[in-house]
Amino acid sequence: MPSEPRGREIFTCRMCGDCCRGYGGTFVSPEEIRAIAAYVGVDAQRFIEDYCQFSGRRPVLAQAENGYCVFWDGKCGIHPVKPRMCRQWPYLESVLVDVANWHAMADSCPGMRTDVDDAVIRECVARMLERR
Ligand code: SF4
Ligand code: SF4
Repeated sequence: MPSEPRGREIFTCRMCGDCCRGYGGTFVSPEEIRAIAAYVGVDAQRFIEDYCQFSGRRPVLAQAENGYCVFWDGKCGIHPVKPRMCRQWPYLESVLVDVANWHAMADSCPGMRTDVDDAVIRECVARMLERR
């Protein structure tokens, strides 16, 4: 009988870039804004004006005309300083709140397995979050 998947075995990034496409997903905190602004060589205010849009009152990374994140160019252009949401994907606290979020996320991420028990998904995500 095959063993249950563990840890990273429920997710293998296929480098397709699908998670970098679409509006409004990637929130950036004030600390992240400062870090990314420094990385791209502008001040924080200019960064918000040129590289962000707003979801309500919160800044999110802007969407380029091609539908992708403004920093996507075949790969992430700010990889060393990319926002926490991007670094943690798909091991997000929201999956522990409701494992249905894993399945919803998997609709747009071919690297995420959905053929395992929800309890296993929850356990794997909890373990990966503990390691951070
Ligand atoms: S959508 Fe999923 S598999 Fe594709 S690049 Fe993003 S994380 Fe990787
Ligand atoms: S910051 Fe990088 S990883 Fe995050 S959505 Fe933009 S291109 Fe993708």
